[in-house]
Amino acid sequence: IERIGVYTSGGDAPGMNACLRAVVRTALANDLDVMGIRRGYEGMIEGDFVEMDRRSVSNIVQTGGTVLKSARSPAFMNPEGRARAMRMLKEYKVDALVAIGGDGTMRGANILHDEHDIPVVGCPGTIDNDLYGTDTTIGYDTALNTAIENIDRVRDTADAHNRLFLIEVMGRDAGFIALNCGIGGGAEMVLIPETITEMEVVKERLLSLMSAQRRSTIVIVAEGDELGGARGIEKALLDDSDFNDIDLRSTILGHIQRGGSPTASDRVLASRLGVGAVESLLDGHSEVMVGLVNSEVKLTPLRNVWGRKKSIDYDLLKLTQILS
Ligand code: ADP
Repeated sequence: IERIGVYTSGGDAPGMNACLRAVVRTALANDLDVMGIRRGYEGMIEGDFVEMDRRSVSNIVQTGGTVLKSARSPAFMNPEGRARAMRMLKEYKVDALVAIGGDGTMRGANILHDEHDIPVVGCPGTIDNDLYGTDTTIGYDTALNTAIENIDRVRDTADAHNRLFLIEVMGRDAGFIALNCGIGGGAEMVLIPETITEMEVVKERLLSLMSAQRRSTIVIVAEGDELGGARGIEKALLDDSDFNDIDLRSTILGHIQRGGSPTASDRVLASRLGVGAVESLLDGHSEVMVGLVNSEVKLTPLRNVWGRKKSIDYDLLKLTQILS
């Protein structure tokens, strides 16, 4: 390997920059050239490449977003798009890749390797924490802390008015953020995509919580919850006369959960995994993702990363019931 290409792709996550910095500096320390590929697979197809040196990653360990930009690339979903991407990589003499992104990004990297045999190592960058092969993903801790900080704010106002608040957090397919910010934010109830809760059960529980003279009640809803997110549940409650006397509000935290400066924990994770990715390539590994498992850097075949479902901790779900 003489020149590696690195890209950030799919949903952006705080800490992607710290990971990129670690990749670039580790590569340079090992006398490899580094090409930054802008806008993920879209930029790979278009040849939107930029040479990276030490200074190109100065002062970014602490920043959110991604200096290489990110994108979703429909063109990369078909073989012609990937062949075009491969031609660009050859033209720029990129002979190995580090992919930073979520499960879609890992899947794309896997397919590119299978079709064109270019060595590739992935780094898990997504706020959703839904990648198999790592205890946490880059960006998750930051998103979780942002969500909790905002839940605390909602709690103040909910408390002042004796209100029932439905707060929707990110997580289309996974309830990691919802479950953990529910516990950390002292929520009375948590609804996640991994479990199916009947609306009648939700209503019953909420009525009993409100009648127990609570000062306020907070329900955390993952956006992918079966009942239609915070707005869907709000509508169902407003349509029910049993809730006529309850002061009810809903709020969607949305994209604020993606932004901001990465937490210490995400910066360290991103740095370790970035270094681990380049070292793995140099050791001859490919088609793997670097993750942190029990505090150790571990490699998992890409196929398992996107092919297997990472399970939430069901004991934590019980905890929310005990503590509410
Ligand atoms: P994330 O990486 O955050 O999960 P996406 O699911 O949007 O984000 O995936 C990012 C990009 O990865 C997609 O826009 C697409 O270019 C590529 N990708 C995703 N799934 C596949 C697939 N099955 N085959 C080829 N490329 C894919």
